Amino acid sequence: MSSPNISRKRRATVIGAGPVGCLAALMLAKRGWEVSLYEGPLDPRSSLFKSTAKQRSINLAISHRGIAAMHAIDGSMAQRFMQTAIPMKGRMIHHLDGKLYSQLYDRDGQCINSIDRALLNENFLDQVSASENIRVFFRHKVQAVDFESKNITFENMNTSRNTTASFDFCVGADGSYSVVRRQLMRVVRMDYQQEYIKHEYIEFKMPASQDNEGHLNFALDPSHLHIWPRRSYMFIALPNQDHTFTCTLFAPSEELDRLDTQNIFLNWFKSNFPDALQAIGEKNLINDFTHNPRSPLICTKSNPYHYKDRAILLGDAAHSMVPFYGQGLNCGLEDVRILDVLLSQESVMSTVSERTEDREDERLMRALSRYSQERHKDLVAITELAMANYVEMRHLVTTPIYLARKALDNLLYTLSSTQYRPLSYLNMLLSTELYAENEPRGWLPLYTLVTFRPDVSYDTVRRTVARQSAILTGVGYVGAAVLLGVAGVWMSYATRSRYR
Ligand SMILES: Cc1cc2nc3c(=O)[nH]c(=O)nc-3n(C[C@H](O)[C@H](O)[C@H](O)COP(=O)(O)OP(=O)(O)OC[C@H]3O[C@@H](n4cnc5c(N)ncnc54)[C@H](O)[C@@H]3O)c2cc1C
Repeated sequence: MSSPNISRKRRATVIGAGPVGCLAALMLAKRGWEVSLYEGPLDPRSSLFKSTAKQRSINLAISHRGIAAMHAIDGSMAQRFMQTAIPMKGRMIHHLDGKLYSQLYDRDGQCINSIDRALLNENFLDQVSASENIRVFFRHKVQAVDFESKNITFENMNTSRNTTASFDFCVGADGSYSVVRRQLMRVVRMDYQQEYIKHEYIEFKMPASQDNEGHLNFALDPSHLHIWPRRSYMFIALPNQDHTFTCTLFAPSEELDRLDTQNIFLNWFKSNFPDALQAIGEKNLINDFTHNPRSPLICTKSNPYHYKDRAILLGDAAHSMVPFYGQGLNCGLEDVRILDVLLSQESVMSTVSERTEDREDERLMRALSRYSQERHKDLVAITELAMANYVEMRHLVTTPIYLARKALDNLLYTLSSTQYRPLSYLNMLLSTELYAENEPRGWLPLYTLVTFRPDVSYDTVRRTVARQSAILTGVGYVGAAVLLGVAGVWMSYATRSRYR
């Protein structure tokens, strides 16, 4: 008589309890996997963490791709998280002479959302802790992974001892300096590229203002992301729910090296961002300048992202990008959605039978292989678009040629494209589909495609915009030729009439 075919739940080990690791854990748990989630530092919700960690309210802009990804895993969770966000309908450009200029993000009034990073992470951890299929281990720092024997070694910081755990599937979501990625590079012929850009960033806090009755108000309009573009550097501000703004100064390292005393910095800031200084106050500015770190900006690319049927890199562990499109996290959350859809499309099971557990799982291997193949061009596209957007944000947004091109872009958008796809519609569609559009119809501006159209892949965005851009340049040349022609005819007429 043959022995019964006993099956057990598949074991997934997720490294890194940042937003991407948490969403990946929730996705696998929802599919019925047994998930262990490991995080190096303390639980950020614990009072010990809050009393020891330097509490800064860093926020980020979350948009349709991130929201659609959260929605695909748990719709009510996505809705709850978004209640803590502040919608921003456009950029507010602050010129040096104090003039303000609002540039709306979208014809149809769609917004990006300022969200508190720490709160988002805590909300994710609450969600993860409430799941029956997930066990969370804090203070467990991954040291090494043996992908052949499927064992992982941690430094347990509670006991100062190393411990090991076995897994069927390992998800590396341990951020830009990923240990899982380094371990994977030992067994996978992975291409890897890393670049520090010449700019660094420092964070500042703009306090709430108070009216005569002591009510707190925002010092600036909270429905905008504020930008002070100053050619080679810029200052930005995003609103928080407590009426403060979190501000970030991006500047070349050489420029920051020069600002080596409080006085030099204060004078430099005063001459470049006078209205921001007024809202922040000299004392606060100097305090943040003195105490907040100068942080680097790194850009990484890897390929492939998986190994056989047993490992994958997601989020910043796979691709770090400069933050100028506000897409780093959105893209990392989208990674999870894409993996989820591929697991469904390849009918990957949440259980494994004891009889076959030593064999490679063809379905899972196919899903991971498709992930690497199909996702790579998208990740390269957004990494490069993010780099290009820095020049736009810190300089181009103020130039007449940019503004003229943008106006033409928006005009063509209004004339040619009637399709408005509300997020609720996209959310439903993207729970089961990788993307809905191969080539979007009509004319769509780059920002709209990247930010508000998660049904279009980043690579398709790049190709669509390259085509539109060639048309705009052509229109520009034709326009210039017509203008030159008109000017030429007018001058020859004027010359002839003068000598007539
Ligand atoms: C200045 C700035 C502004 C940004 N603004 C935006 C924005 O507006 N919009 C946007 O979408 N993105 C933005 N980003 C990018 C965004 O912050 C990242 O893309 C996002 O945090 C990546 O999430 P993650 O979960 O992949 O990695 P992380 O958030 O880095 O999480 C990784 C986790 O892994 C843990 N870990 C690391 N090593 C180990 C180990 N050895 N063992 C166990 N655990 C480990 C870490 O403790 C951490 O919790 C910005 C980035 C910067 C720098």
